[in-house]
Amino acid sequence: MCTTCGCGSGETRIGALGGGRPAPAVHPHPGATRAWRAVGEHAPTPPTPPARPAPARPASMPPGAVPDTVPGHHHLDFGSGPAHAHAPGLSQAQMLRIERDILGKNDARAAENRAWLATRGIFALNLVSSPGSGKTSLLVRTLQLLGGRVPAAVIEGDQQTEFDAERIRATGVPALQINTGKGCHLDADMVARALPRMELAEDSLLLIENVGNLVCPAAFDLGEAHKVAILSVTEGEDKPLKYPDMFAAADLMLLNKVDLLPYLAFDAGRAIDFALRVNPRLRVLRTSATTGEGLDEWIAWIEAGLATARAGRAAGVRA
Ligand code: MG
Repeated sequence: MCTTCGCGSGETRIGALGGGRPAPAVHPHPGATRAWRAVGEHAPTPPTPPARPAPARPASMPPGAVPDTVPGHHHLDFGSGPAHAHAPGLSQAQMLRIERDILGKNDARAAENRAWLATRGIFALNLVSSPGSGKTSLLVRTLQLLGGRVPAAVIEGDQQTEFDAERIRATGVPALQINTGKGCHLDADMVARALPRMELAEDSLLLIENVGNLVCPAAFDLGEAHKVAILSVTEGEDKPLKYPDMFAAADLMLLNKVDLLPYLAFDAGRAIDFALRVNPRLRVLRTSATTGEGLDEWIAWIEAGLATARAGRAAGVRA
């Protein structure tokens, strides 16, 4: 997870619902040169471990190159250890400790979010994908199709800007922007801080658009009912095998922008086969925000989830 990319040290800024003022600064970021670095909070900085001795290296090897254990082998796999990741200067045991600590705290906060949402009958979805898969356009179209029949709200996650939240607000639906700074995903604590600001209605829909990233958001439960992975046909059809954690964590995959299929050499059947190889229980819908293809099924899937969340709240009230 993010012991590799270091996004745990990013600074988060949670905006006000409807595009108001950002959250107050908690403490300044040392060395900050831009305004967005001066607000938000830090995750704890992991301890610096002692340096390990460098392995023996042939004299012919370029500076900075790492000696391979299998000479002539043209494949370096840094995911084969217990931590399934690599960070210079950290042992696998140290990385596992950091990951367990971060994800353990995240999971606890996600469970609190899930309970909070359940008592209110709120159906929450966590939309995850690469950048540019069409998440925001799909959300805008979804909200237009729901047409106010269902009370809805949106949390937008991006490293910077409030562009996506503004696009959502233009539909008349309230949206809260979370800027993650250097962070490459939303986490449960960010969502926990956002929820009380949003005045969410009972039995409503909460759509959470995660930061565009097919890696880190897979590991972070936000308290949602489902992760929805969006794969657009302008990406490689082998994405589910290259980035399996995201497709394993999702319950639904939207194969998006299918209106572009006639112009691309994208094999949709192959992409779906790869996704089902990673996650055989994954439900798949083919969608296009442009033509509306598949959106009736998508809306029906959302409405079934809303009914389940509503029934759960009612059962809780009776208990
Ligand atoms: Mg977006």
